[in-house]
Amino acid sequence: MLKKKLIVFLILTLSGSMVAQKIISKKMYEKYESYKIAQVDNKRFDHNFIMDQFQKLVKEKSIKVEQIGKSLQGRSINLFSVGNGDINILAWSQMHGDESTATMAILDILNFFTADDEFNDVRKLLLEKLTINFIPMLNPDGAEKFTRRNALQIDLNRDALRLQFPESQALKNVRDRINPQFGFNLHDQDQRYTAGNSYKSAALSFLAPAYNFEKDINPVRERTMKLIVKMYKELSEFIPGHIARYNDDFEPRAFGDNMVKWGTSSVLIESGGWKNNFEKQFIRKLNFISLMTAFYSIATENYSEETIQAYQAIPENDKLLFDLLLRNLTIEHNGKNYSIDVGINHKEKSSRNPRIDYYKSEIADIGDLSTFYGYSEYDCSGLTIHEGITEILDKAGIEEIKKLDFIEKYKQGIVAVKIINAKFENEFTEIPINIITRQKLNKGKIEIGETADFIIKSGNNVKYAVINGYLVDIEVNSISVRNALVD
Ligand SMILES: [Zn+2]
Repeated sequence: MLKKKLIVFLILTLSGSMVAQKIISKKMYEKYESYKIAQVDNKRFDHNFIMDQFQKLVKEKSIKVEQIGKSLQGRSINLFSVGNGDINILAWSQMHGDESTATMAILDILNFFTADDEFNDVRKLLLEKLTINFIPMLNPDGAEKFTRRNALQIDLNRDALRLQFPESQALKNVRDRINPQFGFNLHDQDQRYTAGNSYKSAALSFLAPAYNFEKDINPVRERTMKLIVKMYKELSEFIPGHIARYNDDFEPRAFGDNMVKWGTSSVLIESGGWKNNFEKQFIRKLNFISLMTAFYSIATENYSEETIQAYQAIPENDKLLFDLLLRNLTIEHNGKNYSIDVGINHKEKSSRNPRIDYYKSEIADIGDLSTFYGYSEYDCSGLTIHEGITEILDKAGIEEIKKLDFIEKYKQGIVAVKIINAKFENEFTEIPINIITRQKLNKGKIEIGETADFIIKSGNNVKYAVINGYLVDIEVNSISVRNALVD
């Protein structure tokens, strides 16, 4: 009898926590904007700026902070903590300097913990059960230039064995001191990853990293898998089909893999792509929800009801997206016609000032791309593809170029203008035509790896111009070229 009562009680509390969690994450999703630190709205921030934002929270809202190290170039690496619970959690972001999405989310989470509102019960529970430690921007020197590696060109996620660099040492020392049961290794991935064999971008990918080449599952890894299932289920309410499982090949030099070896159930979160979300502000919100979901699940231990099988059923990361996919173009060669698809990617580049980005678009693939998808797609059936023309303009200055009739130029097949030896401040231009300053360079080739500048015709008339990978419809009187290039 007693046994039966106990079972009924267990079932009630378990399913109760499931229901509660769903309601909480839905409410948080709705209320997120009130925790978001609005001053940060661009992913290319530097150490000074973002640490000011963190220090403001420390000052105004009494969050604990401790400097745990200095980067090679002397920038501070800081640990921010909330809670007094027995379960220790360690989350670190921007180990790769150009992967900043989670750093923004951590700021919002700390802000959440100091608010006073309808979530007070949740806060109380989390702060009593957990001590949550954050290291935002582990690689401030890389962040300064918005590049992956540290100041000595080291990928810190390959320094977990040698532990030579101060950034890696800071992370390892904190891990050893607090011995966290759970870790969160926060990164960004290529926006063209998809969730399995689908057209849906992998907005988030999760991984329970392996700790050996055999990919064995020990209790530390198993706990990670179960927690991920919880996060996956919760997040699927908001972005169904947009979550994937990251490749679990063992990397002996990586931190995530070693954390598991050292006894920390460490979850990798990769922030991926979302259509027209260049600053990743929506993915930042998803990070916020993912981490809060995980914290709640750890505090209530409700992840233990999940299974390894459910983890393995999460679709794997695939890479089936182009930024622009032009389907069913016709190309002529020696009097014969062939049908091709063209996949184009807009590659984000840092300009001389790393806070300013621009896009260089390349032809990534040509051929039968019927098994791929595009963030933007066009069916070009009945249309033909042609090389673009570079026009030589003698002695024209920037002002004259600005005054050109671009639509007229596109109609003539022109995708670039050449002014030799002219000096330009930037590698890109907001003028919707490429500018070439070198004698020998021409644009307009239809080749893999070339910049995507060509012409699409309907019969003898130009229908579309592709300028630096951006499609311009000649009949529509607005030109939406984000930037063209100066070479
Ligand atoms: Zn990374």
